Amino acid sequence: MHIISSHNMLQKAREQGFAVPAFNIHNLETLQVVVETAAELQTPVILAGTPGTFNYAGTCNVVAIVQQLAQEHKIPLAIHLDHHETLADVQYKVDRGIRSAMIDGSHLPFEQNVTLVREVVTFCHRNDVSVEAELGRLGGEEDGMVVDQRDALYTSPEQAAEFVQRTGIDSLAVAIGTAHGLYTAEPKLDFERLEQIRQRVDIPLVLHGASGLSEDDIRHAIRLGICKVNVATELKIAFSDALKAWFIQHPDANDPRHYMQPAKQAMKEVVRKVIHVCGCAGKL
Ligand SMILES: [Zn+2]
Repeated sequence: MHIISSHNMLQKAREQGFAVPAFNIHNLETLQVVVETAAELQTPVILAGTPGTFNYAGTCNVVAIVQQLAQEHKIPLAIHLDHHETLADVQYKVDRGIRSAMIDGSHLPFEQNVTLVREVVTFCHRNDVSVEAELGRLGGEEDGMVVDQRDALYTSPEQAAEFVQRTGIDSLAVAIGTAHGLYTAEPKLDFERLEQIRQRVDIPLVLHGASGLSEDDIRHAIRLGICKVNVATELKIAFSDALKAWFIQHPDANDPRHYMQPAKQAMKEVVRKVIHVCGCAGKL
């Protein structure tokens, strides 16, 4: 078992009407929990990291740990470059064994976004790497990048069709009212827009900012063509809340082998729940 691209798992999700969860991982414990749970439930899974994650954990460390986990659990795994912004950064990480990338030019004018994404697709497809790109902008904050909610632009269905056709991407992240981070008000998703995008675009669609959405909204989005659901904040909250609670009860604790256990358990519950909502258990 080895590190794969996310192309085939997302195509299967598209054909069978489920979604593959992409969990943002930051450390050994998150990787262990996500992979163990995915293996238990025989589910396809994507391990995602922003540039900040790879800077923190070390690209080669992440690749080595994931390779080891894939062999140990006999499950193919995709490591995904989440919100990467330059061809050079993607090349560096592909050279180190990663086979799934998001190139995020959503902050650029349309033509510049197309040009950047095409360059990345040309390089990636030569190396058996799948490419996700984004059109329209999500609100909220991820990895220090802030998008004002009022300036967040939704994806245009017509532009989406042109974008997919001109770039040759494998999957498209859509902006339909979700945001990164925590929601300050109840999110209202534009399902009508999602349906219009689906009618014009044949490739798997990706939902960013799923933390804090209702299960009904996520299921509805999957029925309308979402094939990849990104979860970052929800895992971080489960992890840190469990740690905080443990240290309140055990103020003198100092052994990570003890205090990491409740944190891992809390993340495991989130991973199980997301897999359940995505309908991907047993779809390996
Ligand atoms: Zn995102």
